Formats: sequence, structure tokens, C-alpha cells
Amino acid sequence: MENSQALRTWLDDLKLSHPLVIAGPCSAETEEQVLKIAHELKDSDVTYLRAGIWKPRTRPGMFEGVGAIGLKWLQKAKAETGMLTATEVANAAHVKLALEHDVDLLWIGARSTVSPFIIQEIADALEGTDKIVLVKNPVNPDLALWLGAIERLYNANIKKLGVIHRGFSTYQKTKYRNIPEWQLAVDLQNKFPDLPLICDPSHITGKRDMIFDVCQTALDLNYDGLMIETHFDPDNAWSDAAQQVTPDSLKQIMRDLKIRKETDEEAEYNSKITNLRAQIDVLDNKLIETMGERMKVADGIGALKKQRNVAVLQSNRWNEVLGKMILEGEEKGLSEEFILKVFKAIHQESINHQEKVIKG
Ligand code: PEP
Ligand code: MN
Repeated sequence: MENSQALRTWLDDLKLSHPLVIAGPCSAETEEQVLKIAHELKDSDVTYLRAGIWKPRTRPGMFEGVGAIGLKWLQKAKAETGMLTATEVANAAHVKLALEHDVDLLWIGARSTVSPFIIQEIADALEGTDKIVLVKNPVNPDLALWLGAIERLYNANIKKLGVIHRGFSTYQKTKYRNIPEWQLAVDLQNKFPDLPLICDPSHITGKRDMIFDVCQTALDLNYDGLMIETHFDPDNAWSDAAQQVTPDSLKQIMRDLKIRKETDEEAEYNSKITNLRAQIDVLDNKLIETMGERMKVADGIGALKKQRNVAVLQSNRWNEVLGKMILEGEEKGLSEEFILKVFKAIHQESINHQEKVIKG
């Protein structure tokens, strides 16, 4: 991808005065639903109508998409509203059908990007296409895997490429459905400044009331566009109900977002500081999650001590923990004074929890 300038052209050709917006339901459900959403979105900043036709669901037995019939609904929506269309493809058969039905933009889902075999199959099926192809990040935070997928498509002579950042899954619970790890997408942006970068706040947050903030962060980081799941009746959507917004809320989000026009120097500063702050937010959130989990374990210890009638404070054990943490802290550049303060506070909270259990 040495000479990657051409990658940007498709986006510049759209001549938008605002970020690119791709919106529509997580899943196409019925013909009426697709058409209703398309009509409600047609007079807005939305350029591409999205709808999932084949849905990669984590567990079997859930709604797995309407299949190829949904492509006819997208075609009808395009004919009636003039909107361009977008859907996810996950194998060569999907690609063939999507191309036959003249879908304008195809995206590759997070569960496909993790598999080089699937990506190669999709790249071969798309060879030389002039359709736009966007690659979502893999579910795991692995930049090389994401880049590898982009390279496979580029090598298949697909030049209208871009990426979608939809966040990364973690075992640890956070306030996000998929944590953003902004620095990873920003690294990709720095490596390939001509590769359009779209944010998918719906799958990052999993909750509609967090979408605006994630969109604003993305724009502050100079993202080129947004992909937002939109449904006229989100609560009754057949998939991803909690994260979809109504067409009216989508329009409100677009009105409220600040698109900052800055000098290059300001833009660089703002993008760096936003990125760093976003990292701090994620880490703070992890700290709270971890401390919450730690106190749950303390409750368990309290229950055990109560059963065996053992005293809450075991000073040997406490001194051992403290000594270990001071050494580990030192390795991370944390002063002894700081470790003492933090762990005394944590220990006190832990004692409070245990006493509560014991007094029960
Ligand atoms: C989707 O866009 O509906 C979807 C399935 O997304 P992801 O691949 O990011 O999970
Ligand atoms: Mn979805």
C-alpha cells in the first residue's frame, strides 16, 4: 500500500460538507421496516443506508438475518429515496449476491476480519471491484490483523477502501460494549492517512445514550465519518435493540456534534490530547471495575472468616501484600509513598466490606 493516495478519492468524490454518515438498522427485518427507515433518513446527512442481511450472532438460535431477500428491499429503498446502500458480507456467496443487487458499499464485520482465510476468500470474490469496501477492526485489539485484512483487499486491486473502528472485546466488564482503544485506530490513521476512518459508536457503546460522546471524540480525532445504527422503534428491533437510535435522534446528534475547524497545529494538539484523555478514561474505568471486583472477593473472604470465626485483620498477610505491591510499584515507576496511600485506602475499604459481612 505504498502508493495509497487513491484510497481517499472515493470519499473526496462525495464532496460532503460534513462527516460521512452511514445509518440504518442493525438488521433488515421486513420490507416495510427498511423502506420506512430509508424514507425517514433520506433528507439528512446520511449518505449510505445500512442494513445487516446476514447477521453474525455470538450464540445460535438468535435472529440470523433475513438473507438475500433483504437485498431486494435495499434495492427498492435506493430506487425510492436515491440513498446509496451498504451491507455486511462475510463470505464469497454474500459478495456475489451483494454485487448482483448493486449494493454500493460492502463492509466486512469484526468477526470476519480476525480470519485471514475468510478475508482472502472475500478479497478474491471482490477482485477489481469499484464498490467501496470498509473493513471493521477485528474483535481483538490486534493492529497487524486489521492491516493484514486491508492489504489482502488492496492486493486484490480494490482501491475504494476504508476502515471502520467498532471497538474491541474484553473479558473485563467496562462501561463500553467494546472498548475503543482509541490509540490503536489513531496509529492506523497515522500509518495510512489516506485511508478513510469511520467510527461505529453503536457497537463501541452498546447503549444509545453514550453514542453522542463517542461520536464527538471520533470527530475530535479527525475521523472521516460515522456509522450509526438507526431504527424507528429501537426497543423492538430484532437485534442490538439497546444501541439503536431513532432517525430523529440521529438528526439531533448530527446537529449537536461540533466539527472543529482548526489550524494544523491546533488540530494536532487537540487530536493528541483527546486521544490521551480517552485512554485515561478507559483506564480509570478499568480501575473502578477492578476495585469493585476486589471488594466482591473481600466479601467472600469475610463470609469465610465468619464461618471459621477468624479475625478480620490478619497483619502478616497485610504486610506481605504491601511489601509485594511496593516492589511491583517500583518497577512501574510508582513511589513507595503513593503505593502506601493507595493500598491503605484499598485495605481499609476491604476491611469495611468484611466487617459488614461478618456483622451481617
Ligand atoms: C453490525 O454492524 O451490525 C455488526 C454485526 O457489527 P460488528 O461486525 O462490528 O460486530
Ligand atoms: Mn448491530
